[in-house]
Amino acid sequence: MARKIGSRYTAHQILGRGSAGTVWLGDGPEGPVAIKLLREDLASDQELVGRFVQERTALLGLDHPHVVAVRDLVVDGNDLALVMDLVRGTDLRTRLDRERRLAPEAAVAVVADVADGLAAAHAAGIVHRDVKPENILLDMEGPLGPGNAHPALLTDFGVAKLIDTPRRTRTTKIIGTPDYLAPEIVEGLPPRAAVDIYALATVLYELLAGFTPFGGGHPGAVLRRHVTETVVPLPGIPDELWQLLVQCLAKAPASRLRASELAARLREQLPHLAGIPPLEVDEPDEEPEAPQGYDEQQYTPAGDEPRRRGAVPLVPGSTPDSNRDTHTSMRVPAPDELSGGPRGTARAPRAPGRPRPGSARNKSAAVRKRRLTLGAAALVLVAGIGAAGWLALGGDDGDPGPQDTRNSAPAQP
Ligand code: ADP
Repeated sequence: MARKIGSRYTAHQILGRGSAGTVWLGDGPEGPVAIKLLREDLASDQELVGRFVQERTALLGLDHPHVVAVRDLVVDGNDLALVMDLVRGTDLRTRLDRERRLAPEAAVAVVADVADGLAAAHAAGIVHRDVKPENILLDMEGPLGPGNAHPALLTDFGVAKLIDTPRRTRTTKIIGTPDYLAPEIVEGLPPRAAVDIYALATVLYELLAGFTPFGGGHPGAVLRRHVTETVVPLPGIPDELWQLLVQCLAKAPASRLRASELAARLREQLPHLAGIPPLEVDEPDEEPEAPQGYDEQQYTPAGDEPRRRGAVPLVPGSTPDSNRDTHTSMRVPAPDELSGGPRGTARAPRAPGRPRPGSARNKSAAVRKRRLTLGAAALVLVAGIGAAGWLALGGDDGDPGPQDTRNSAPAQP
């Protein structure tokens, strides 16, 4: 079914759905295009529409072979659409899901392309803010490069910024995807170009390892790890490449490379990476077995949290979500969640090279410890149920006691 978008474009079929809207294959006066139709709740937000129009010149002016060009912005009735160049291929997430890990040469070639695109954007004063594999498109019609990698293009420029209106962020402080969020954003600093470098280095780590350096588990725990944890070295990674990764994952934004330097340094390494197979890296932890009736959203074993990938709600008790999605309604975790308070999930910072709790190297000890912890939790639960039963049977003295605040987000500052 065809759908008119403004007076010049027609959308024909859905190419993919993202967190901010749906991408359609369409056509316009100059041939085929991709049309990103923003979600209705975003399109009906007058403030956002105003910013959309304000951003027009900057977005339309970004012209680079490794950036998906935005050709037009359409505001038409209830429709708010970005008209983009059509990239015939797939996104990097799809490739990663299929192959699990990329050979270092291919991974570096893809990331060097994206760093080139970012350099152009940063020079124009545009920060992407949501660099992740879903936003990197691989042009299957383009020439094959080093490691047989197709050209990579960064898409979704300006979308995170558009969504991040002051009114929206009054209750929703963080825009981005937890796995790729730079520590300075977690700490409330404004996003500058270095946040894109951190996110891109996270993508490189993920392409090499098959998982992100700080991902897994509760999004609050992911945010805390960005601030407190050191990245674990990947076995077999060439030293120079590792140094580059560490530098770009630095906690201090000023210590990271600029996009143009990163692109150049990555390309310098390409000849040394030819023929190296994908790294053999242990998968991080699997979800521990939970006893019957155990509600993971209500109880997370302190110091040894399940490293579940995806599908965890940020606020306990809310609808599950994929933790790789861009969170447009993410609250800043309470201090006790970041520091490991009564309901926090903090662990002691891990020294470089030490296994993650629950990783293959540490598994049997972790499983034993978990069984003990979960056993203790079950006892506490049984005792709790007993106490509740006693209260229900008339033991209530009228004092409501301390309120259970587990399902209510703390007030925003
Ligand atoms: P997300 O919000 O997850 O970043 P998007 O809404 O940007 O996702 O895109 C959803 C999907 O649509 C992408 O994964 C990709 O497959 C497809 N897509 C996005 N932009 C284009 C484009 N310019 N050309 C072709 N396909 C695209």
